Amino acid sequence: MNERGGKSIRNIEFDVAVVGGGATGLGVAYDAALRGLRTVLFEKSDFASGASSASTKLLHGGVRYLEKAVLELDYGQYKLVKQALRERDLLIRLAPHIAHYLPIVTPVYSAKEKFYYRTGLRTYDAIAGTRPSIRSQSLNAQQTLSALPLLSERLQNKKLFGGVKYFDGQFHDARMAVSIAKSARAAGAVLFNYAEVSDLEFDGKRWEIRVFDGVLDSEYTVRAKTLVNATGPYADRIRLKVSRTHARLKPSKGIHIFTDKLRIHAGFLVPKTADGRVVFCLPWEGKTMIGTTDDFTETMDYRVEEREIEYLLGEVNRYLCEPLSVKDVTGTMAGYRPLVLKSSKTSRSEALIRDHEVEVIKEKKAVHVLGGKWTTFRFMAEDAVNRLFTLLEKPFVKCQTAGRSFHDSIEPETYFRLVSRYRFLGEKTKKHLLRYGKDFEKVLDYARKDDYRLLSAERPYLSGEYEYARKYEWVECENDFYFRRLSVGLTDGVRHAETIPAV
Ligand SMILES: Cc1cc2nc3c(=O)[nH]c(=O)nc-3n(C[C@H](O)[C@H](O)[C@H](O)COP(=O)(O)OP(=O)(O)OC[C@H]3O[C@@H](n4cnc5c(N)ncnc54)[C@H](O)[C@@H]3O)c2cc1C
Repeated sequence: MNERGGKSIRNIEFDVAVVGGGATGLGVAYDAALRGLRTVLFEKSDFASGASSASTKLLHGGVRYLEKAVLELDYGQYKLVKQALRERDLLIRLAPHIAHYLPIVTPVYSAKEKFYYRTGLRTYDAIAGTRPSIRSQSLNAQQTLSALPLLSERLQNKKLFGGVKYFDGQFHDARMAVSIAKSARAAGAVLFNYAEVSDLEFDGKRWEIRVFDGVLDSEYTVRAKTLVNATGPYADRIRLKVSRTHARLKPSKGIHIFTDKLRIHAGFLVPKTADGRVVFCLPWEGKTMIGTTDDFTETMDYRVEEREIEYLLGEVNRYLCEPLSVKDVTGTMAGYRPLVLKSSKTSRSEALIRDHEVEVIKEKKAVHVLGGKWTTFRFMAEDAVNRLFTLLEKPFVKCQTAGRSFHDSIEPETYFRLVSRYRFLGEKTKKHLLRYGKDFEKVLDYARKDDYRLLSAERPYLSGEYEYARKYEWVECENDFYFRRLSVGLTDGVRHAETIPAV
């Protein structure tokens, strides 16, 4: 299954080679394979080990961007929000086993503030064409406190006036990446993790791509007619190799922290931080996730610093009855947003776009996919693959990803009906196995071999999941399994040794 070293592909000339196995690259590989292009993808580490497993895990149009669109009469921002809201709703339909709507509440401290947010959220609903059951609502102070029991009744000298509740999408980013990878494989793409593109050359007709296999510690060469650079925040490295040009990426670091202390069922939006941003506290995998920061750094360093944790705690603590401290943090994660400068001629950070851009280098038959966000990965992939047909001089085939559920998708109601036959499984294990979608029975086939043993008494994971993941989900080491196929590595990473069982 996970044939390494590229032995079986060395004599194939692919239509497209995708570099990077995050949301963007996996989306491109899936779309290209569905449209009949011979597709190969190389990811230097594990799939989604970059920005794509470090996101706030929201499928959203971005209430903040809408505010910008209205205040600055910016039609571009408005279009961005509208497109993202359409993708949000589509992805929840296509992958209901790993994506759902989540209520998010923000407290307000005056009638004026309430009117402002209420108007904005009504507009957000109108743009999305939101159905009545998930439209935003106005809450009084009592309703706000029952939605967010952690909230203090006062913010400095201001008394809580009420709140507003709206809905956005929440998803498991790393699991969605696996789901897209499985869908791409089912459509005929060949995907490799721990396969770094170490060099590439265009000979006038095709790309010769040098790949370093990090597991076998060996190199091989693959040929492809076109190249897609989907390396997210690292995209300039390949851009600069492909053509003499200016750097466009200005990656911005964002961290999140996890805690057991706030037990919330709805999300909590801190509407305005000291530096004019927003911070989310969201229920996720039995914990509360708090984030995020937005910092430009000279080098990409994934360590989470205590000052970053303290910044997030400081912003959230202003609103809480019982403040959190650094010792309440059970896990952290950091990632870099692949933000793009508006044009190659500017280096000013205020000229950053949060949209995506597809840069086509016709004479080299290369496409760079820059920027974007998780929510819009499918749309970005469609945009990129559309351009490949011109480069390949092949008859155009229409994109099919919008009308097709992912390979393992299943409606939660159907899943819970099917899994209820396994009466001996605990309720938490049943809930947990939903992430495998339709494939859950294959997982149970592996679990059966050791009598459905749990990996540890405190957690709902079955030991058979590891073998399944090694066979079908490209898992090469325990970190792949604990950090991205499950998420306990992220949520409990600070206490890694005590809480994460050995497989
Ligand atoms: C803190 C934070 C919060 C965010 N929150 C949200 C959110 O709530 N909702 C949302 O929609 N978006 C969110 N985003 C944005 C979203 O996560 C990213 O836009 C998206 O994941 C980018 O995917 P990507 O595939 O382009 O990049 P990545 O996921 O970084 O993937 C690029 C991949 O390329 C690989 N690579 C690099 N060089 C090579 C090479 N030479 N050979 C092979 N592989 C290579 C890397 O290993 C990496 O895995 C957030 C981002 C951050 C950082």
